[in-house]
Amino acid sequence: MSQEKTTCVACQRDDAEVPLLQLSYRGGKFDICPQHLPILIHDPARLVGLLPGAEELSPADHHD
Ligand SMILES: [Zn+2]
Repeated sequence: MSQEKTTCVACQRDDAEVPLLQLSYRGGKFDICPQHLPILIHDPARLVGLLPGAEELSPADHHD
């Protein structure tokens, strides 16, 4: 039986410690905690290596 552990992609805390929001991305399911959701929105480059494909996400706010 393959059981995927549900943890935040950024901090690896599980739902026993923090509420987790489930994301669908590129056919995969990922979870992120509210603390790290702003990173996904505003600074997804920080999730490169944690969330597959994060390097292709654009931040929601542009400062230039
Ligand atoms: Zn987190």
